[in-house]
Amino acid sequence: LEPAYAFMIRTRTPGGVVSPKQWLQLDSVATAYAERGLRITTRQAFQFHGVIKTELKATMQAINAALIDTLAACGDVNRNVAVAANPLQSQAHAAVHAQAAALSEHLLPNTRAYYEIWLDEERVAGSGSEDEPVYGATYLPRKFKIGFAIPPYNDVDVFAQDLGFIAVVEGDAVVGYNVSVGGGMGATHGDAETYPRLGDVIGFVTPTQLTAIAEAVVTTQRDFGNRVLRKRARLKYTIDDRGLDWFKSEVERRAGFTLPPARAFGFVHNGDRFGWVDGADGRAHLTLRIVSGRIWDRDGLTHLSGLREIARVLDEADDGAQFRLTPNQNLVIAGVPAALRARVDTLVAQYGLDTHANATALKKNAIACVALPTCGLAMAEAERYLPDFTDRVQERLDAHGLREAPIHLRISGCPNGCSRPYLGEIALIGKAPGRYNLMLGADHRGQRLNTLFRENVDEAQILDALDPVLARYAAERDTDEGFGDFLVRAGIVIPPRPSIPLQLR
Ligand code: SF4
Repeated sequence: LEPAYAFMIRTRTPGGVVSPKQWLQLDSVATAYAERGLRITTRQAFQFHGVIKTELKATMQAINAALIDTLAACGDVNRNVAVAANPLQSQAHAAVHAQAAALSEHLLPNTRAYYEIWLDEERVAGSGSEDEPVYGATYLPRKFKIGFAIPPYNDVDVFAQDLGFIAVVEGDAVVGYNVSVGGGMGATHGDAETYPRLGDVIGFVTPTQLTAIAEAVVTTQRDFGNRVLRKRARLKYTIDDRGLDWFKSEVERRAGFTLPPARAFGFVHNGDRFGWVDGADGRAHLTLRIVSGRIWDRDGLTHLSGLREIARVLDEADDGAQFRLTPNQNLVIAGVPAALRARVDTLVAQYGLDTHANATALKKNAIACVALPTCGLAMAEAERYLPDFTDRVQERLDAHGLREAPIHLRISGCPNGCSRPYLGEIALIGKAPGRYNLMLGADHRGQRLNTLFRENVDEAQILDALDPVLARYAAERDTDEGFGDFLVRAGIVIPPRPSIPLQLR
């Protein structure tokens, strides 16, 4: 008798966009096969947790029937491409999303193994020896992440990506992208050779040059990335080991053109905005807060049922509405026709999906990785601890008259950093059960990393450490000054160098 092995399956959904029909199909998959509902990841993918080994193939086939695959959602390849989801930017979003989806397709491996193993595609002679012009015979040294941001919002945390594209929008047109390389969140506790790093902006490309530059960056990493030390195999280390000038020259040589200087850009924050936004075309977009991205009918919640009903209404109308997952684990019901808005509102209220309405700024912006009990790398709780921890911090904020301070808080169960904790103004990184490294001092634009403030501390010690700095923030902050910016200005935190300039010109 074999143990009841359970697995996690992650989709490839570039930019996290699915139709109402696909939502209904993914809901059915989650209901039939997954233990813990649907989960939105920080890369705008769906995860199904607790899929039993004997049902893996049926689950994969059901996902595929929704015209969604899981190809290259894990492994040493380009992962799910992330795209800004802010509904205020809907026109630019369509263009940028199309470009991101095309790049995602271009960077897929050519192997048919996925189709043969999971979808019963017939093996043909020569199968297994497909030409892989991008990945070669040995793929990449390590995972690779791409994100597209649309200023002034950095919801995608573009500088945390191996390769980031920052859209330059003139009027309604996307005229090109600034290119950022070498971002990455992962580190190992106590190992100075590993560290989080922000990307460097190396120039500007037009939309027609984008695929060439992306392929040049990926193949440079393929050929020069560290294949001896896996912990040093990400692109950020290749760039630091060989130098940014060398890297840029090599990328330009491969692409066949020189990058002109980056265009001006600036970000205002890296969170989501919530509630309804009216689009220019008469349609409206509703951003819902989904705590830790978990959608299920459990613990008194009926969110899976509620979103199912909304998807049914939108699918029946067949009028172009979309579901968009955000990189902060929330959900945008996008492109809702005016005639359906009231119906959506009724269902949102009926199923308690309007949790953003009464949440404070701290709670709306807080994110956490999965961690225990699902992730094998977790050293401490994250998703399951987030509600309690935000309650405790909120009590301290309230005590200092900071109830609506828009502080970005992030928790990760280990230093791998799936919730991008090194970009949180307050962040916990798991060390052991109940113990965390407390990190402080990132900005809320995704342009400055935070710094270790207390090492290996429990909840009481974390709150004791936060209390005096919150008191000083309440008393000494400038108008509209963010918490992380204040900590740096007051000298309470020395930020790691380099930060990205506030406004790049
Ligand atoms: Fe797992 Fe660590 Fe990622 Fe959290 S940060 S999901 S614990 S690997």
